[in-house]
Amino acid sequence: MSQQLTLALSKGRIFEETMPLLRAAGIIVSEDPETSRKLILQTNDPDVRVIIVRASDVPTYVQYGAADFGVAGKDILLEHGGGGLYQPIDLNIARCRMSVAVSAGFDYARAVRHGARLRVATKYTETARQHFAAKGVHVDLIKLYGSMELAPLVGLSDAIVDVVSTGSTLRANNLVEVEEIMQISSRLVVNQAAMKMKRERLAPILAAFERASAAKQ
Ligand code: AMP
Repeated sequence: MSQQLTLALSKGRIFEETMPLLRAAGIIVSEDPETSRKLILQTNDPDVRVIIVRASDVPTYVQYGAADFGVAGKDILLEHGGGGLYQPIDLNIARCRMSVAVSAGFDYARAVRHGARLRVATKYTETARQHFAAKGVHVDLIKLYGSMELAPLVGLSDAIVDVVSTGSTLRANNLVEVEEIMQISSRLVVNQAAMKMKRERLAPILAAFERASAAKQ
């Protein structure tokens, strides 16, 4: 196995909040994915490159070894299942929460009390399934791939399960957060073979990430 390292990141908050951690490890990414259309970004270290993939694809690239390591939200990792991945560090970045939200006029507590069967639209079907099963609430899950907030507004569902940060997207769409399922943050994930075969190369980067994320606490 070559000692070249490939790091999988998604655009947006995860990319932005990983940059200071990389800098702490002496690695500077030479291009900005928001302005460049390149999917493979070089760094100041000729042996380290960054690939830009969809957030939900990060665990897959790392699992199969196409990337040696990556950064993915707990929301994404729970849906993926985490097979084939080491999760050595909670980086405590891209923090948000996974919540249940409904239209402002919908009495969620009453529906739950009365044992109503709820239609729930979400991208996070695995997390939602486990959450409602644990509460003993019967749900029909409707899988969506984006803009969950629209579903209750047009009668596709009674509720949504989505990640919430400031809550302004919910407010803008007249939705109310009725239940927090869990706190979410992003974790470092490492390919299990790379962890063994590239340990020497990876260890100092992982240590720098750990120090930098602990210092932020
Ligand atoms: P907000 O309006 O700040 O509550 O942000 C909510 C919207 O941004 C939702 O549509 C989420 O899908 C998305 N979002 C916010 N934070 C995150 C995060 N840490 N990871 C993924 N998506 C997020």
